[in-house]
Amino acid sequence: LKENNARHLWHPMAHPAEMQATPPKVVMAAEGVMLTDVDGHKTLDAVGGLWNVNLGYSCDPVKKAIAEQLEQLPYYSAFRGTSTGPAVELSYMLRKWFAPDGMVRSFFTSGGSDSVETGLRLARQYHKIRGDRDRTKFISLKKGYHGTHFGGASVSGNANFRRNYEPLLPGCFHIPAPYTYRNPFNETDPARLAQFCAQALEDEIVFQGPDTVAAFIMEPVLGAGGVIPPHESFMPMVREICDRHGVLLIADEVITAFGRTGAWTGSRLWGVRPDLMTIAKAITNGYFPFGAVMIGETVAEAFETNADSFGSIGHGYTYSAHPVGCAAALACLPETHKADVASNAAARGAELLAACEGLKAEHSLIGDVRGKGLMVALELVSDRDRKTPVDKKTIGTVFEVAYAEGVMLRVSGPNIILSPPLVITAGDVAKIAAAISAGLAAVA
Ligand code: PMP
Repeated sequence: LKENNARHLWHPMAHPAEMQATPPKVVMAAEGVMLTDVDGHKTLDAVGGLWNVNLGYSCDPVKKAIAEQLEQLPYYSAFRGTSTGPAVELSYMLRKWFAPDGMVRSFFTSGGSDSVETGLRLARQYHKIRGDRDRTKFISLKKGYHGTHFGGASVSGNANFRRNYEPLLPGCFHIPAPYTYRNPFNETDPARLAQFCAQALEDEIVFQGPDTVAAFIMEPVLGAGGVIPPHESFMPMVREICDRHGVLLIADEVITAFGRTGAWTGSRLWGVRPDLMTIAKAITNGYFPFGAVMIGETVAEAFETNADSFGSIGHGYTYSAHPVGCAAALACLPETHKADVASNAAARGAELLAACEGLKAEHSLIGDVRGKGLMVALELVSDRDRKTPVDKKTIGTVFEVAYAEGVMLRVSGPNIILSPPLVITAGDVAKIAAAISAGLAAVA
């Protein structure tokens, strides 16, 4: 199995030679927050699948809802003149749970990349139906990650995700992210850095010509770019700038929605109501590929009051509002609230961050520790003064030792990324920290 895995499976974002050199972990079973690999070795999943298994792997009500929906109505479309019971019920429930974020309608998709693509399209269409036909450009953050489709890749910041696929969408521009550890302003004060980055956004809008910009898209806490929580003033400043220039604000909450930052959404954490919100991942606890664009009042109203706009919405997916996905999401919502996972994410997240800060005092390889709720990153450097990113082999050894110690980490560039299920205990936090410590000691 291990041999065939390395040889035949196309591993996204990993080179086949790497897979041969360090055979990937083959997971065969999972229970609670624990994974079991093909050799029977058990590890605590400090990655939470891919930031999505918020409720762990044994969430029986969700499994039951999926099984029952498969029996009753395994598929039908919610497209033009047709719909399904679960689709209607879920849009009603999401409207309820996302009301404080100003969201009133849901456009269902099959995952995060689809949600971003739909969000970008809706932003352009919103301006067009209002007569602003030139508002087509998008601005985003250099460290942002918005999925792999052409639109999402175009607004993503990391050149590694873009350069092999060019030419991408024209009219996409990137501004510096409020990343205190490394930034072009050489600014270490988070509040001042937030101001500089917000000013960079305003400058870019003005430079491009405000009436040519459709939307600014950002993650409330940057995830795949290395877990970068901005200063609390950043997103409110962004909202104000977007409003002043008639630019829509799209919050990409594919990771942050459903409690991961300690609040129900990342936007709510910062007290901001975006115009569009992209969600996916934890919406079904990872058990079914699913997502949505939540649509705020302003955008919804523009479409609702334009007689032609609904008929001319030129896109949708075969699996938009898949009834099994809707049933899974409907079962996740009460489970999320019953267990109050957002509060647990805040409490365990604070413990995890403190534990990682403790590791930083012991291990000189850790250059920076940052996080919000249960999104935490440790950035490893071979030289603290120069902030030289650690090499692949060293961080690979940290990963392997932690795995042997019973914890599955995620390594991304020089970062160790932690995004465990939101239902972890204080004991789990200690176990994660101990495994990282063992990994770092092995390369000291
Ligand atoms: N947006 C963000 C913020 C993401 O983190 C991701 C995936 N990590 C995506 C979009 C793309 O989602 P998916 O992988 O489900 O297509």
